[in-house]
Amino acid sequence: MGRLFTTSVVGSWPRPPWLLAELRRKNKGEISYDEFSAIADEAVLLAVKYQEDAGIEVLTDGEQRRDNFYSFVADKLEGIKLMTVAEVMDFVEDSSRYEQLLRALDVPAFAIKSPVVVGPVKKKRPIALDELEFLRRHTKHEVKVTLPGPYMLTRASWIDPVSRAAYWNREELAREYVRLLREEIIQLRDAGASFIQLDEPTLTEVVYGEASKQTFMCAAIFSKIDPKEELNFATELINKTVKGIDGVRLGIHVCRGNWSTREEALLKGDYRPLIPYFQEMKVRQFVLEFATQRAGELSVFKDVSGIEELGLGVINPRVREVESPDSIVKKAEEAVKYFDPDKIFLNPDCGFGTFAESPVNTPKTAFQKLKNMVEAASILRKRYGG
Ligand SMILES: [Zn+2]
Repeated sequence: MGRLFTTSVVGSWPRPPWLLAELRRKNKGEISYDEFSAIADEAVLLAVKYQEDAGIEVLTDGEQRRDNFYSFVADKLEGIKLMTVAEVMDFVEDSSRYEQLLRALDVPAFAIKSPVVVGPVKKKRPIALDELEFLRRHTKHEVKVTLPGPYMLTRASWIDPVSRAAYWNREELAREYVRLLREEIIQLRDAGASFIQLDEPTLTEVVYGEASKQTFMCAAIFSKIDPKEELNFATELINKTVKGIDGVRLGIHVCRGNWSTREEALLKGDYRPLIPYFQEMKVRQFVLEFATQRAGELSVFKDVSGIEELGLGVINPRVREVESPDSIVKKAEEAVKYFDPDKIFLNPDCGFGTFAESPVNTPKTAFQKLKNMVEAASILRKRYGG
């Protein structure tokens, strides 16, 4: 049996204010990506130190070089342009309704600058290999690398008619992303990543975002969707992306939005409608929210086969109260009914700073939460004989 209740994180860590100042300079074109990245090295070291001191076993670089979990690809890929809502809205019919919705949902303006495909998509630099190489030089821990999933990327960045000149339809663009992500995953594995996580948060939106609430990401509102068709499409893209790749733990992260500390602004609904699709996806781990009540009960896994590992969300990154080790143990024990202890990872529900400009917690609180999670893991290991 492997390690029990391995501790990890979902991805992002709050960025220090001085890094945000440099990020703004980069976004204005005052410094290059490479200059920014060299400055961000220091922030990565801080994020690593916090995680190591908390005792986390599989850590990330805190996504310090990214402005958020998906639009950072504009720095990495040719053919993608970051567009403001105003720019994108030139292409949609009912823009006033869209603006109203964004306000009602507490989506901050910076979060809705969306990557839009405007030409053939090609790598101008690695998507994440540069991040991994730096991280590996500065920690002896196992490391996780997060990548935007192929479905989310396609859904967010193909906008009719701007993208049509380069890719006639979404499917064509999706094929390009699958190819690029596969290549990146193989390089990351060869460079020593132990866990590669594809972020597909919009899967819950497909199921639970009413038409009027599809503002999870800017572009999402523009696609009219049939949930079943979308979930099949997502499953197919994920499987094509990971097909035949072994020697590294592959996972999918799904949540319900992480841009606001107002829980009522975020989506709600359990995993039941997604489970048949999870069962088809050829990945080892599902990294899922469970600390927030909006994610429903773990009993959705009752009598469910074909899901190997669970990355169990046991702390809510968006609330200030620090979960006690006992409450984390209790949550993990619910999961033990459905998964063996060596198939359960403990992690927060999502990142602590998904969007650079709006971290959902302070480093100090995030650190304390991780420490308690590590303490819970050690209680659980004693109890379950690791
Ligand atoms: Zn998330």
